[in-house]
Amino acid sequence: MLTADDLLAVVRVHADRVHDAVRRLGCGPEDAVAVVERSALDLVEAARTEDLADPVGWWFARARVLARQVAGTGDDDLPVGGGVLGGDANQARLAEALEARPERERAALLLRDSYDLPAASVGTVLNLDANSAMEVVGAARLAFLPALLGGPSLSLAGHVVDLASLARLAEGGQPAARDATTRRHAQSCERCANALDAMERARRLLSGLTVVALPDAERDGLLGRVDAHAQQALASAVPFEEDDEEWEDEARRPYSVSLITLGLIVAVGLGIGGGVLASQARNASVEAQVKNFPLVTQAPVIVVPVMTPSPTVPPAVSPPPRVTYLPPSQTPVSTATATATATATATATQNQPVVTIDPTSGPNDTQITVTGNFWTPNATITVTYVTQINGAGDTVTATSDAFGFFSTTLRAHDPQPIPGPRQVAVTDGANNSSVTFTQT
Ligand SMILES: [Zn+2]
Repeated sequence: MLTADDLLAVVRVHADRVHDAVRRLGCGPEDAVAVVERSALDLVEAARTEDLADPVGWWFARARVLARQVAGTGDDDLPVGGGVLGGDANQARLAEALEARPERERAALLLRDSYDLPAASVGTVLNLDANSAMEVVGAARLAFLPALLGGPSLSLAGHVVDLASLARLAEGGQPAARDATTRRHAQSCERCANALDAMERARRLLSGLTVVALPDAERDGLLGRVDAHAQQALASAVPFEEDDEEWEDEARRPYSVSLITLGLIVAVGLGIGGGVLASQARNASVEAQVKNFPLVTQAPVIVVPVMTPSPTVPPAVSPPPRVTYLPPSQTPVSTATATATATATATATQNQPVVTIDPTSGPNDTQITVTGNFWTPNATITVTYVTQINGAGDTVTATSDAFGFFSTTLRAHDPQPIPGPRQVAVTDGANNSSVTFTQT
């Protein structure tokens, strides 16, 4: 059985992602906060009463169920936000393309590619085994790219190929033995090769989606309440007390009612933040909502760029999400300036160009994959291996796509093969960045 500390660790790590997911699956700001808390408390109950093999998947699954009950009437009939969950033009396009996909595909893409959850957890959420979940992910990626960038359909419907295999191969890394047949096939089948490229690209783009974080006040309050509940429910094996029964009773009511109640309880318990929420509940107009969020409008968007995860990162390792806080008023914030948060580990401006290399060390003449995000769109990118003596070693150029993404390979060649750090320098004419490669 999970301990209270295990459970709280899961909630801490994934609270912002669960919040992002329910927002993107159609919940408004207040409902989303309520769904995150409600599902987290349900997770405590589930951990108390059953042996949860996949608590992360269980939580996302529960949140998805609640989000659907709150947000929509049917599977594919969820209200869309018109891209308001995007903090800038690129993010808005990603958000709109996601919203245009059916809810099930949207969930699969968010969970696997944006949050990098294990395939088994994606399966828990979609009520499928891990392999079938990857089939859904693969098909969803193929539908997503034309939705985002236009172009012909990439669907492999009717083509005999293992879609789950292709979806796994698109994630890079060492191919599993069971995917070897599909890999060989894709090397000689143009249709599958194109599909593989598109899946890789969709995954990279989705891995750059900013996560809409819980507002700080809501997150602190939620973690405190979940912790208190978990310590009580999980540390000691005592049966339900008054507190828990309240949750049980609420579960029998329609969620729309119980969630509004919960939202108000949360609001009242939050002091200043609660006052804001409660005021918001009384004021229907967007303008009034904005007026009630003085703190939010002063610093509307908080973006913490982190390195885009390399496709070769083992799937068990979840990358830290980029965290964006969008005002609950749903006001588009295209002109917002980025502000570093107190919790940020690095200060950076919004969409500062980033570059990653893989591998980060190796002998002379290692082939390095160089990947960049947030560079000038549709620009010529020059990548140089800076040698120890003359400076400029092998140089390659690449063209960034409409999102400022590029990927290329570079030979780490130094005529002086002395072990030590070297720089891989990247420029698009306007921006420069470099990253250290350690020659061994
Ligand atoms: Zn094929």
